[in-house]
Amino acid sequence: MEKVINCPCGFVLRGSSDEEVVKKAQEHAKSAHAMDLSREQALGMARPA
Ligand SMILES: [Zn+2]
Repeated sequence: MEKVINCPCGFVLRGSSDEEVVKKAQEHAKSAHAMDLSREQALGMARPA
């Protein structure tokens, strides 16, 4: 199932699976916000696309 995360900074990321959306969210959080996002946090922000 595709999921989407709308980051508060305006960045939108999509993934076709939980794994993909978590990975993209962690990469974005790290590179854009110098933040370590847990899998649970990433999934908590994800919504069905
Ligand atoms: Zn962001």
